[in-house]
Amino acid sequence: MIAGSLAEPTRPTMPTRFDPHLVNEPFADPGLYVDLRFERRALLFDLGDLSPLPPRKLLRVSDVFVTHRHMDHFAGFDHLLRSLLGRDKVVRLFGLPGLIDAIDAKLRAYTWNLVAGYDGNLVLHAMELHADRLAVASFAGRQGFLRVEDTGRRIEGGLLLDEPGLQVRATSLDHGIPVLAFALQERAHINIWRNRLDHLGLAVGPWLRAFKEAVVRGDPEDTPVLVARSQPASGPDHLPLGELKRQIMRVTAGRKIAYVVDMAFTQENIIRVVDLAKGADILFIEGGFLDVDGADAALRRHLTAGQAGTIARLAGVKRLETLHYSPRYQGNGAALAQEAAAAFRDGKAASDPAAQGLLTTDDTGS
Ligand SMILES: [Zn+2]
Ligand SMILES: [Zn+2]
Repeated sequence: MIAGSLAEPTRPTMPTRFDPHLVNEPFADPGLYVDLRFERRALLFDLGDLSPLPPRKLLRVSDVFVTHRHMDHFAGFDHLLRSLLGRDKVVRLFGLPGLIDAIDAKLRAYTWNLVAGYDGNLVLHAMELHADRLAVASFAGRQGFLRVEDTGRRIEGGLLLDEPGLQVRATSLDHGIPVLAFALQERAHINIWRNRLDHLGLAVGPWLRAFKEAVVRGDPEDTPVLVARSQPASGPDHLPLGELKRQIMRVTAGRKIAYVVDMAFTQENIIRVVDLAKGADILFIEGGFLDVDGADAALRRHLTAGQAGTIARLAGVKRLETLHYSPRYQGNGAALAQEAAAAFRDGKAASDPAAQGLLTTDDTGS
């Protein structure tokens, strides 16, 4: 991300390039749909009940990120499959080891003798995150979704998607079983001031691309950049990178969101999730138990609302949205949201890990 190397970028409060929203209300299954507005595609985090998503939204899904395979996070696989069947489409599904077998088992449960006659060929790439590599298998509708092992690839720091416009990173957490939590980071954009170019007698042209690439690479400030003049020979044909940066560009920071369900409130988990969600514009996180029922939450390896708020505060996120509320509080969701918000804003929650000494021992993160 280049934002870190550049001075104080502006940070709009609302995401512009992607539009994240929860699939369900917080008492129903967890799931996050992220529309990538300019790419005609969407990312989907978790596969619980997908029925609120209309077919046109499901058709946009290009990448699915599965936290773990408890039913409330994975039972919607069939719904997605049925919506996309017969379409010419490639969908990548990322998850923990076991995902490939799980998808294979789901696909084997159905009879595919008619699938060859469909117009489109739906292809699923199942990708499992192992310690430092992705294992990949593909299932193509035309071949009756026969499993084909693909060559995996090495992976560093849980970086699942690394595209020109965005990155998705995963970290592994403990929920009695391993689960994945995800962060989506939009890359910073470099904007060029047209009027400043005019003012300096510079012309729009391919040189601006080379200039932006030099900025992204972090080239030294005195690097000469070949420029195009609106009037030939009206000034030097090279200008220092640093001067151009100060004069003609503005950086818009990329937005970041994080999606975290389900996890136990342990020191190791807190360190990992705070690192993942650091500075996020929005943190979507489970917080489905009142603090007074903290023992029940701990037994189920879930967070309380106050613990979710504490994590949001420790991670310095801008906005907190809790989900995955336990049905026992039906009709009283506001109390869960308030408890989370209080711990987030005021740090008054009894669940503050600092108060319990959780973060005072040696950092065991990584
Ligand atoms: Zn779970
Ligand atoms: Zn769950």
